[in-house]
Amino acid sequence: MNMKIVNVKIPTLDKELFYTISIKDGSVVELVPHPSKVKGERAFSYLQEELMTTNDIVWDGEGRILLPGMVDAHMHLDKSHTLFVAENKSGTLLEAIESYTKASESFTDEQVKERMRKTALGALAHGTTTIRTHIDFNTRVQEETTFRGIRMALELKRELASVMTIQVYPMLPYYPYTDLDRTKIEKMLKMDIDGVGGAPHISEKPLECIDEIFSYAKQHNLPLDLHTDESDDPAVDTVLYIAEKTKQFHYQGKVVVDHLCSLAAMEEQKAKMVIEEMKKAHLGAITLPAANLYLQGRGDTGIIRRGITRVRELLEAGVPIATASDNVCDPFHPFGRGDLLQIAQLTGYTAHLGGKEDIPTLLKMITDIPAKLTGKQEKGIATGQQADFVIIDATSVERLFAELPQTRAVFGGGRWLVSTTTSRHYEVNGSIQLGRG
Ligand SMILES: [Zn+2]
Repeated sequence: MNMKIVNVKIPTLDKELFYTISIKDGSVVELVPHPSKVKGERAFSYLQEELMTTNDIVWDGEGRILLPGMVDAHMHLDKSHTLFVAENKSGTLLEAIESYTKASESFTDEQVKERMRKTALGALAHGTTTIRTHIDFNTRVQEETTFRGIRMALELKRELASVMTIQVYPMLPYYPYTDLDRTKIEKMLKMDIDGVGGAPHISEKPLECIDEIFSYAKQHNLPLDLHTDESDDPAVDTVLYIAEKTKQFHYQGKVVVDHLCSLAAMEEQKAKMVIEEMKKAHLGAITLPAANLYLQGRGDTGIIRRGITRVRELLEAGVPIATASDNVCDPFHPFGRGDLLQIAQLTGYTAHLGGKEDIPTLLKMITDIPAKLTGKQEKGIATGQQADFVIIDATSVERLFAELPQTRAVFGGGRWLVSTTTSRHYEVNGSIQLGRG
């Protein structure tokens, strides 16, 4: 499909300019900025039939927002939509883990894959074309359950390869390991996985757990992405040891740490030192505001902490930090729809990022930054790169964040992948008027 779209705004490149983007055989062949609108041929349509059947056309984007295909760098596809089979009465992380583990023994292959597919395709419809999913790898349940999530995630990864990229990161179990645990881990590491995950801070012996995780990653030459210090306790600081191991193993740029809730609880001096050490080790970071707003601060009374890491300080220190969905409709987080724009808005609330200069940063936290953290070769929108983008029905970034419009069209792999349209009909003074919605 060859086409040209004029008059789109690409706020990750520049907030004010209008761009002309030309696409040939699935690649961007030309990208030209203009200070004001140019003449188009036909108003951009979100109707799938029109999008799919039109070739060699000059669409007029009329100032709508175009974003690079969004990157959800931290999801749990295997757990998504299990809320109705796994309760969490206390709303704590520990009950969520226990409840999910118990329920997981009764899941079938079909159920797990169906839930993963639903979440992944839902995310795609919102404009996410890359997902990194953490997958439970619990060695202390029946062997079939241990491997089910990974087998299903790898099947789904292959099934959806033509429309989106899915990276599979099994979470290593809690330490200490038995010989049987190690045998299962070795078997898992030989599967077609993309990296190694885990949550060492929950282990009985977190530092030993981190040692072993690094050894496995190095042995199999896999990057690491770890749930880190998801706790309100300022004394929990395993990120310092992760930074140390990263340097020792020459893993700079290959380690991502997620959550970092305790960093928010630490006193200023210590937090500063931790951020400095993270920077020296070239760690990437991910904040997960939805799940942490829900799970953290459960022991607090009076003013309840929000559990969100120091996003602004990390950004200012130059630590690449993305924001991501984490859990969707499960005991860890009962809400959500896998829409990164919604998550970016939530990040704006929780990290106090809403000023004129902050909005493009929020957009980068769901596009360029997670693209870098997930090792995507192509980042953003540029000449010569694969055309991978979403056009959203808003003509300014302010409206984008105010409305989170659902009307979106997603392009990738040389074709329109999915479009969603919503519209409102108003009855005003006896006549029906159409409004965007
Ligand atoms: Zn997570």
